Amino acid sequence: MHEARQYTKTGDGIVTCSLCNHRCVIREGRHGICGVRVNEKGTLYGVTYGKISAEAVDPIEKKPLFHYLPGTTSYSLGSVGCNFHCEHCQNWHISRTAVEDARLRDLAPEEGVQRARGSGCRSISWTYNEPTIWHEYTLDMGTLARAQGLGTVYVTNGYITEEALRELAPMLGAYRVDLKAFTDDFYRKVCGAKLQPVLDSAALARELGMHIETVTLVIPGLNDSMEEQEQLIRWVIGHLGPETPMHFSAFHPDYKMTDRGGTPVETLEKIYRKAKELGLRFPYLGNVYHHEYENTYCPACGAILIERQGFASRFRELDGTQCRKCGEKIEIVRDAR
Ligand code: SF4
Repeated sequence: MHEARQYTKTGDGIVTCSLCNHRCVIREGRHGICGVRVNEKGTLYGVTYGKISAEAVDPIEKKPLFHYLPGTTSYSLGSVGCNFHCEHCQNWHISRTAVEDARLRDLAPEEGVQRARGSGCRSISWTYNEPTIWHEYTLDMGTLARAQGLGTVYVTNGYITEEALRELAPMLGAYRVDLKAFTDDFYRKVCGAKLQPVLDSAALARELGMHIETVTLVIPGLNDSMEEQEQLIRWVIGHLGPETPMHFSAFHPDYKMTDRGGTPVETLEKIYRKAKELGLRFPYLGNVYHHEYENTYCPACGAILIERQGFASRFRELDGTQCRKCGEKIEIVRDAR
């Protein structure tokens, strides 16, 4: 167990956690909504510090991140627990597992950085389950990683508070955030959370200089109306910038959401075209393998800069961070140092 950061003692042994926007008030012997932050005798602990459930060397495109160290691998780690309770969770076997039931193994921050470097990765990603609730561990490992020239990635639902995000800022390079929908109703009913804090944290991440990419899983009947998608795209263009890569991914029935089919590719293509029309420079489709809308095109001349097939990338007309054909500057991070 590791004492938590980002909490206050409110008296009578009660603590308030300020790591995510649930801001749980936790009595002695109890844990917060995420299940991994526990009040023991008036002190809050993160019980998954240094405990991992999954470790892999992934193409960074799998996060998905298309404009942060493209064509490289990322040393990827996950633990257990989540502060959201999404009905369609694709990683429910680790996000919904209690710490005492999980098969976890120890990995010190220093060892994690060594393993990342030893496996030839250019970055470390905290992914598979929500990294916000792993705050102290990611902060320690990320600080070491940055000092050694590695990139750092959060694959997050974006419910982190302002104070916790500011604390991460010196070490966090990329913020890959889910924008699950553009209605508070969806966030409340499907995830057990609220929309506005997610938007506020994404805008703050940009202000703090992190590289941002968004992912929206387009779910038939829940968030697939063109009106809602258009509002979402307009918000991203206005608050995160038109150069923000937005990924629109196909839904597949999973976990508790099996009452509907997958997303028709035509719906995703329509959203892609709308995003382009509204001025977004880099929309992408996801979960639709071998589709031309997975490629990166020069927004000025249309040349293929990076061609993708699944998670494999082939560099075509990208020269550093410029289009070789027309010289257009492309917003893409090639070096994390
Ligand atoms: S991280 Fe969020 S869900 Fe977990 S205890 Fe803190 S405020 Fe509650």
